[in-house]
Amino acid sequence: MNHLYRKIIFLDRDDTLNKDYGYISHPEQVELLPFVVEALSLLKKLGFEFIVLTNQSGIGRKYFTEEDLEKVNNRLKDILKKHSISMLDLFYCPHTDEDSCDCRKPKSGLLLQALEKYKNIDLSKSWIIGDKLRDIFPGEELHIKGILLQKNFELKQTTIPKNLVHISENLLQAALYIKNYEENFF
Ligand SMILES: [Zn+2]
Repeated sequence: MNHLYRKIIFLDRDDTLNKDYGYISHPEQVELLPFVVEALSLLKKLGFEFIVLTNQSGIGRKYFTEEDLEKVNNRLKDILKKHSISMLDLFYCPHTDEDSCDCRKPKSGLLLQALEKYKNIDLSKSWIIGDKLRDIFPGEELHIKGILLQKNFELKQTTIPKNLVHISENLLQAALYIKNYEENFF
């Protein structure tokens, strides 16, 4: 794998990788969604690495501590490792809306932290994926292609991030879309 320039999939955590039971605070609550292993295995084969960007306002709300969060994240990493998938890094925002921080998605602070740490990321070949539009927005200014994971998405009058290129039912469909995109455009 060529590490001179990294291709990254920026992933949301809850309801993108694992089931969201609402404010996950215990490692036992970590359960991968269907197709996640297949999807990440395929993306790994294509040369991608994975960075998770996750809002964890449960910390700001004092529902759980940063220590609890670390245990949950480690559990997620362990489960993925069993399937030979490694997570390059994970960045989280502990704040609530009231904190008006720069990192809570849809803001781009978490993404910028990742780009500060890993300076050799090829953004033109990287993707940003999540189950909510606010997961996609952080990549808008930098034109990182976004995929929304939703089953019955209705456009309505919502503001759509300009970097959104596709809507998939699940992560495996998203991975197949990326595979197809790479075959046709690079
Ligand atoms: Zn924050």
